[in-house]
Amino acid sequence: MSCDAFNRMASAYLDGELTAEDRRRFEAHLETCDACRRELADLKRLTEDLDMIRFKEPGDEELARYWSGVYNRLERGLGWILFSVGAILTLCYGAFKVIEELIRDDTVSNLLKVGVCALIAGLVVLFVSLLRERLVVCKVDRYSKEIER
Ligand SMILES: [Zn+2]
Repeated sequence: MSCDAFNRMASAYLDGELTAEDRRRFEAHLETCDACRRELADLKRLTEDLDMIRFKEPGDEELARYWSGVYNRLERGLGWILFSVGAILTLCYGAFKVIEELIRDDTVSNLLKVGVCALIAGLVVLFVSLLRERLVVCKVDRYSKEIER
């Protein structure tokens, strides 16, 4: 078993979720690899710390931090949604205006018109896709923060 595979199984091992076969291979690697033994000890300590936090009654300070976290996330989320909608509307409007002007202008060659239209359409698509990616990252961030708690 490689150290990589070992590390991927480590938390399942601590939770007792490995099959007998995987467990045997996991423990065989543990015998031979100092680095992974240390890694597992660290993970175990971390897991125990997390369990302690989880079972502790939340104090006032913790509650305040929690709610300010929720507020921050809402604010951030709302900001992104407003920004996205605004940016997309502005961009579409601007693109539409440019295309309209361009098509009306008889001095511009058709090839250039097609080129500029493709350029603008490409920009809009790229921008929307960037924003979508950004929103997905937000969601993933939120998920990983929940895991940390
Ligand atoms: Zn190893």
